[in-house]
This record gives sequence, C-alpha cells and structure tokens, in this order.
Amino acid sequence: MTHCNFYIDGAWVEPLATDKPAAPFAVINPATEAVVGDVAMGSALDAARAVMAARLAFDTYSQTTQEYRTQMLEKLQRIFERRYTEMAQAISTEMGAPWNLAYDSQAECGPGHIKATLEAAKDFPFEKKSGRGDLYCEAVGVCVLITPWNWPMNQVVAKLAPALLTGCTVVLKPSEFAPLSAKLVGEYMDEAGYPKGVFNMVYGDGPVVGAALSAHPEVDMVSFTGSTGAGIAVAKAAADTVKRVVQELGGKSPNIIFADSDVEASVARGVKRCFNNTGQSCNAPTRMLVERSVYAQAVEVAVKTGAQVQVIDPSVKGDGIGPLAMKRQFETVQRYIDIGMNCGARLVLGGPGRPDGFDKGYFARPTIFADVTNQMLIARQEIFGPVLCMIPFDDEEEAIAIANDTPYGLAAYLSTNDPAKAKRVAKRLRAGNVSVNASGNEYCNPFGGYKQSGNGREWGRFGIHDFIEYKIVNGL
Ligand code: NAD
Repeated sequence: MTHCNFYIDGAWVEPLATDKPAAPFAVINPATEAVVGDVAMGSALDAARAVMAARLAFDTYSQTTQEYRTQMLEKLQRIFERRYTEMAQAISTEMGAPWNLAYDSQAECGPGHIKATLEAAKDFPFEKKSGRGDLYCEAVGVCVLITPWNWPMNQVVAKLAPALLTGCTVVLKPSEFAPLSAKLVGEYMDEAGYPKGVFNMVYGDGPVVGAALSAHPEVDMVSFTGSTGAGIAVAKAAADTVKRVVQELGGKSPNIIFADSDVEASVARGVKRCFNNTGQSCNAPTRMLVERSVYAQAVEVAVKTGAQVQVIDPSVKGDGIGPLAMKRQFETVQRYIDIGMNCGARLVLGGPGRPDGFDKGYFARPTIFADVTNQMLIARQEIFGPVLCMIPFDDEEEAIAIANDTPYGLAAYLSTNDPAKAKRVAKRLRAGNVSVNASGNEYCNPFGGYKQSGNGREWGRFGIHDFIEYKIVNGL
C-alpha cells in the first residue's frame, strides 16, 4: 500500500485541516481492481500553500544561472535513468499499461523529454541583440502544471523540464488516477536537491484543487493537459487574473488511407496504433477513412488485425493491450459501444463486455465499427478506448473534408505512395501533427493541436517557448 501525500516547500506533508476534509482517494490497479494505495486529496488551502511556496522560491531560483539550471536538469535526468524500472512499474500499476509499453514507451518519456529540453537549450537564444536593444527570455513565473493519467510521465516531464530550465517554479497537480508516478517525480526532485519551493506537488480533484490553482492570483501560468471540457474550465478560472494558459486537449484523429498505398500494411498499422495504450492516447487515429475502391478489403484486414490484438494482464511481458485505466473509463467505452451498435454502424469486431478469460479488471474488447458516417456520435466524440471507426470516402477532396470535419485538430495520419499527394493533403489537414506512411514524431519537434485540441506546442524548443516571457531592454 502506497500513501501519496503532498510535496510542498521541500517536505512531504499531509493536507491542512479544514472543516470538510476530502476523503482519501483509492489507488486501484485496473487489472485486478485491488486497492494498492491511497491519495491525500487537497483543498483550496493546500493549493494556496503550494502556490505560496513556489512564489517565495521564484525570486531566487529565477535569478540562478542557466549553467546551474542545466546542471540540475542533467542531474535529474540521471535520477530518472537510474530509477527507470520503478517508474515503469508505477505507471503499469496505476493505469494498467502492459509491461512492455510501460517500460519501452511510457517510462522513457521522462528522461526522453529532459534530454530533448537540454539539447534544445544549447542553442536557444535566451539573450540576444534585437535592433539596438537586448532581448531577454525570462522565466514566466510560478507555473501550475495540471496533467492527465494516460501518458503520465510524457505530460508531467514535457512541462516540468522546460519550466525548470527557464527558471520557473512549479506546482504540479497530477491526475488523481496517476498518483504513483507523480510521487516518484517528487522523490526524484528531492533527491536532485532542488532548492525548497522550486517544485511543489498537490493531489486533488479538478473542480477543487485544479480550479483553485487556476484562479490563484500568485500563479502566472497554467500549463494544462487533459480533456477539452476541463481545459475550458481552467481557461475561464484563469481569465480574471490574466494568466497565460497553455492547453493540450483532446482529439479524434483521422487516418486517411488512399487506394494507392500498401493497403494491407496501412490498415494493419492503423488498427494497432488506434488500439495502442488501449486506445487511451490523445493522438490515437480513431477515424480510419478509406478510399471506397479498397474499402471492403480494408475492413477485412482491419478485422483480421484487430482479432490478433491480444488483451493481456499488464504484469505479463508481451505485446498486447491492457485494461482501461479505471472503472469510469470502462463504463464510458461500454456506453459508446452501445451507441455505435444502435446508430446504424456495422459492428465487425468486438462489442460490449469483457474479452473472454477476464472476469475482473477494466478490460474491454478491441472493437471495430465499419460503415460509420462522420456525423455519428462515435465518430465525433473522443471515446478513449480500443474502438475504431471506419468511414469510406470517394476522392481526395472528400477525404480532406471528412478529416477536417471535427472540433479537434491534434493529429492526422495518411497513407499513400504518391509523395506529391501526401504533401498536398498534409498541408490541408488542420492538425498539429501529420504522420505520412506511419512516420513517428520526435521529441525535438512540436506537439500540440489546432482548434479545440489546444493552443500550446510542447516538446524541445517549442516547450521552452511556452515558459518564457520576452523582455526588451533598450539603452544598455
Ligand atoms: P481530465 O480533463 O479529466 O483531467 C486532466 C487533469 O485536469 C486532471 O489532473 C484533473 O484532475 C484536472 N481537472 C479536471 N477538471 C478540472 C478543472 N475544472 N479545473 C482544473 N483542473 C481540472 O482528463 P483525463 O481523463 O485525465 O485525460 C484524458 C484527456 O486528456 C483526453 O481528453 C485526452 O485527449 C487528453 N490528453 C491530451 C493530450 C495532449 O497533449 N493534447 C495528451 C494526453 C491527454
């Protein structure tokens, strides 16, 4: 049993006494439904306490040298690398990522983002001449980092590394559903020896602690990753104090498969990518748009590929998908499967309930709907589970129109063997990340969305930009 409490001003602390203390939140292993720990849930008072610790530390930490902050970040990276296995274990336990995914991808995001930030800092123009003046890039101030549970280290460290590097002090409010990995981050920061108050962490739910942090007048910036609805609430709460708000939100990403691609390979990797992390990725290609002339073949390949995706116990090594991260998510996915079955779409794989062989845990069946129209609810809303929608299209124009017909704009995927077409289509897709023929993104490149997928760009030098203020000094 792990008890998760707060890290404020260089010490592990319990919530402050209030009239109505929130009950501790149970940490449930989604594969077994066993309670493996508890999380102290904060109040607005705890949020304020953490903010004031960060505020007090800011004057000193923001004036430290770039060299000092770089060395500290390098030290933190070494700790992330040395304690790598326990991070993978924590992530697997708290949100059910199968061991291979937790170890090879989820835990790797921590040191990966620190390394990319350090690399970007090498030639980042923190001070340079601009006209006759001097242009300084300075720390934005006290930053609140609010993060989700689905790629917990990806989101925490993509924010934390540039914040620390630029001289910001932070209050992290991790997801209450991913507290174990966040607790390790607190331990790593403590071990690295950061000055008191530079890093603070409070657990709690969004409407109480997240809202209090977003509204606090001593906070200069909120960097938020999560659902679009919560991102809007954060922006509204932050508006009265004119904070910078950076939002990384949801997605419903299209995957356009043209007839001139290697259809079998394109469809197979699209299915696997959609189901990766049990469909719980903001950039999952959940709408597969297929050119009509190869549509029937694509449905066949999708069903064959999907049927081979194994649902596995996350603690066992092997390729496969684990459970959904929590009961709430399991119920949401079941509801959408039900909606899909009743809206005219054709269920070609999976369906409601748990897969064979599982009588407990939040395991869902990999599910594919064919003959979906882009107006159906299952094609419009983020389901966040292993559910793929297949939609036919007739020509390039229609593919682009369907792809862009969504409130989201995080990622888009396309497969074609015609490079000119690939470029033409990629330029017209209203999404922050476009993958052609399954190319992956790198930590040095921007990650973020158009439209209601957010307004930020994280990773590498783009992440550093989020955490700086520009100051022009004339007359020196
Ligand atoms: P969520 O919005 O429920 O919660 C995210 C975080 O926000 C949590 O820490 C939560 O406690 C907090 N929160 C909730 N309501 C809040 C409020 N009113 N004020 C302040 N904080 C609040 O999202 P989730 O279920 O944890 O994560 C899944 C969502 O995150 C999906 O929509 C997914 O697409 C999105 N996501 C986006 C990205 C990206 O980079 N664009 C990456 C990962 C996840």
